[in-house]
Amino acid sequence: MDCIFCKIAAKEIPSNLVYEDEQVCAFYDLDPQAPVHVLIIPKAHIASAQEITPENSAAVAHIFEVAAKLAADLGLENGFRIVNNCGKDGQQTVQHLHFHLLGGRQMQWPPG
Ligand code: 5GP
Ligand code: ZN
Repeated sequence: MDCIFCKIAAKEIPSNLVYEDEQVCAFYDLDPQAPVHVLIIPKAHIASAQEITPENSAAVAHIFEVAAKLAADLGLENGFRIVNNCGKDGQQTVQHLHFHLLGGRQMQWPPG
């Protein structure tokens, strides 16, 4: 499968990895939108949040545990934002489930 995030998870293409375990990995976004901008992905290919099922959702729960740990490790004690863009209306551009962990500045609400 020609999936850039599968290739990053398999280390077939390089990334600035910040965390890895059996289920997930996390790496810095190429085009950061905040002082801290990390992408957290399941290693197994899940195309989008529309594809989360009872069979694969444990990885998603684990991603949120990793997000809390990374936020603490990266100094985001004032808070952070986790974003998932899903599908065309959600402006998803990479078709492998990923969660943006954003922090280090005051976020705005609502999003555009
Ligand atoms: P999406 O719009 O799908 O939610 O976000 C995809 C994100 O992946 C974007 O923020 C983009 O900058 C990032 N991205 C795309 N290709 C690469 C890559 O090869 N390496 C890294 N580190 N980030 C990427
Ligand atoms: Zn993939």
